[in-house]
Amino acid sequence: MEKVLEVRNVTKYYGGGSVVAKALDGISLSVEKGEFTAVMGPSGSGKSTLLNVIATIDRVSAGEILLRGKRLTEMKEKELSVFRRDQLGFVFQEYNLLDTLTVGENIVLPLNLRRADYQESRKKLEQVSEALEVADQLDKFPGELSGGQRQRAACARAIITDPALVLADEPTGALDSRNSKKLMETFRSMNRAFGSTILMVTHDPVVGSYADRVLFLKDGKVWNELYRGDRSRQAVYREIMAVSAALGGEGAFMEGEEPLAAETAAPMPEGTSVCYGGPGMEGAPAAGEGRGLMGKDASMEGEVSKC
Ligand code: ADP
Repeated sequence: MEKVLEVRNVTKYYGGGSVVAKALDGISLSVEKGEFTAVMGPSGSGKSTLLNVIATIDRVSAGEILLRGKRLTEMKEKELSVFRRDQLGFVFQEYNLLDTLTVGENIVLPLNLRRADYQESRKKLEQVSEALEVADQLDKFPGELSGGQRQRAACARAIITDPALVLADEPTGALDSRNSKKLMETFRSMNRAFGSTILMVTHDPVVGSYADRVLFLKDGKVWNELYRGDRSRQAVYREIMAVSAALGGEGAFMEGEEPLAAETAAPMPEGTSVCYGGPGMEGAPAAGEGRGLMGKDASMEGEVSKC
């Protein structure tokens, strides 16, 4: 498998003098081609900072970041802006579509900025807009679309250049739960139909449960990580809730949101595994050690697996 992203021992400090905040604390992780990864964790755990340094919006204090083997941390600003345009796709919480352009013009904008061939651009526009179900909205203006439709258009724009990595920062933050789920189906389509590699920050366990892999941050480090494997989304949701409880109380990163009834109906199944392993796992409990996950203080033998 090709490693698209490598974050190696990255530390990020904010401030100076006696008021210094360590937002990232020697964090290491990697993302492979075609992975759909969610980044979760309590408020202040470093999620946005991580996304910002990968997006090259912010500089690291120490460590290095490689995208497709290229060291972003060594690039100069001019080189970075070209790199960002060509290699990264972005989906933000607030759509970020230009109101004066039609939806189609918005989606195709990254190709126009590259001066891509017109016919090729039209073909690509047709392909992504159909796959993401915005094909019949192309001649409208963003203001005429619902929040969910606008966000799907933003997704189409993010993948039209086939970027190495799509970065999404709380993409469902402005959507209700029905549209959030639909948007996550869109992310899955991007991932499956176009092979997009996605790194998404979310505080919402329902949204996180659509990913193939969930990284949990705490105090600027990867504290835990779980893989979907062949489990159902509901099972992944329950695992997220369990880890969230261990990280800082039941529903620690729900921020007051009520989970949907369907998500909470079934209890955590017997024998569900929570996987610890991979890079940057310094703070995570060892297999069998137990840390009160799922409210149990007893040994977790047989439930926590190193994977
Ligand atoms: P999260 O996205 O998980 O809520 P952040 O990455 O926003 O966490 O923040 C991680 C830590 O870094 C927090 O302690 C926060 O206060 C601090 N921090 C983030 N941005 C800044 C900044 N611009 N100036 C000072 N401290 C910051």
